[in-house]
Amino acid sequence: MTNAAELKARRENAVAKGVSTRGIYAVRAQNSELWDADGKRFIDFAAGIAVNNAGHRHPRLIEAVTKQLEAFTHTCFHVAPYESYIRLAERLNAATPGDFAKKTMLVTTGAEAVENAVKMARAFTGRSGVIAFSGAFHGRTLLGMALCGKVAPYKKAFGAMPPEVFHIAFPNGYHGVTPEMSLAQLDQLFKSSIDPDRVAAIIIEPVQGEGGFNIADFDFLKKLRQVADDHGILLIADEVQSGIARTGKMFAFEHAGVAADLVTMAKGLAGGFPLSAVTGRAEVVDAAPVGGIGGTYAGNPLAVAAANAMLDIIEDEGLCARATEIGARITARLKSIAAQQGMEPIGDVRGLGAMIAFELVKNRETRDPDPALTQAIVAEAEARGLIILPCGTRANVIRLLPPLTTPGDQVDEALDLLEAAIEAAIMKTYG
Ligand code: PMP
Repeated sequence: MTNAAELKARRENAVAKGVSTRGIYAVRAQNSELWDADGKRFIDFAAGIAVNNAGHRHPRLIEAVTKQLEAFTHTCFHVAPYESYIRLAERLNAATPGDFAKKTMLVTTGAEAVENAVKMARAFTGRSGVIAFSGAFHGRTLLGMALCGKVAPYKKAFGAMPPEVFHIAFPNGYHGVTPEMSLAQLDQLFKSSIDPDRVAAIIIEPVQGEGGFNIADFDFLKKLRQVADDHGILLIADEVQSGIARTGKMFAFEHAGVAADLVTMAKGLAGGFPLSAVTGRAEVVDAAPVGGIGGTYAGNPLAVAAANAMLDIIEDEGLCARATEIGARITARLKSIAAQQGMEPIGDVRGLGAMIAFELVKNRETRDPDPALTQAIVAEAEARGLIILPCGTRANVIRLLPPLTTPGDQVDEALDLLEAAIEAAIMKTYG
């Protein structure tokens, strides 16, 4: 039995089945490479699901965390606060879009950031309704799963959802949902289900992550901002996956040139240390009563040190520009692969910066999803030493999330592996 096979057997015996896992048992990782328990090398184009934006173990991140380890590891910000948390809040207030006074709270996971943003919106507006989108992913906590716009597996077995959560269709040009249709659904929702005066917030991922890397039309985001303003509804940008330089800007919302009232971020923020944040209008953030938000580990000093280092790295190494470059390089190659004969199952190639995806279909005309081929490509890539992730409400999208520090030759190596994997998977699936 190989080491990985042995770990798999132990994992099956000891770890909850509902926690999904791949077969790659990590032992070591550096920048864009990862080695597993059998000593096999992988190029990691999952980056811990959009977390290691500056690669694994960036030296400046390790240095900052090591320094913090030697000072203190935990005091609880509620008990003995520290300067690094305050500095990070100041920096996030300055970095998020919007020319207004802002404040920040730190928590630990993306779901927690989302929960806290909704709590703030409810406290500020005195309203309870929340509107989210089909295909959305906002986390696995009770409210998080209610906000998700996909039933299986997120809310299939888990009983009653928290009330006052409504969904409208996310615009998706490839599948014929126009921005106008989404706005019409919002209008209809106000007529049929909830008075806009009772809606606290609309929450949207500017680029849907788990839902399939669907990019919100920028003009649609502007119009959504307008509708929210017309009704005193707050706009929450969930930038947990799309934020922190991933799309070529610090936050994907910046592409649309409008500001959300609250921004949630996590994942790339601390490059692998558990940290998330809600940053937004000072008066909204401050609406939550003292003691009503926070947590024992919220804003852990090691994770905060990592986040402060991460913001320096993004700036000093020009990671926003790097995201745009890598994204253009990968998207161009994918488009040329898709144009080859035999590659008809690649129905769509899309991306914003280094948040890139391609959609697998049984037929380019009907655009029927091909989840089996999608799984096969992921498996073939893994066999060749490339880690990629599937996503999409129809499980037929492959997303590429390269670390923004990936050297050019490894980007090309990964794309060669991917092309071979797609060819092999198509061959096996369609003969
Ligand atoms: N929001 C978005 C947009 C996400 O992509 C995710 C995680 N995939 C979450 C929230 C939840 O984050 P976490 O898993 O850290 O709770």
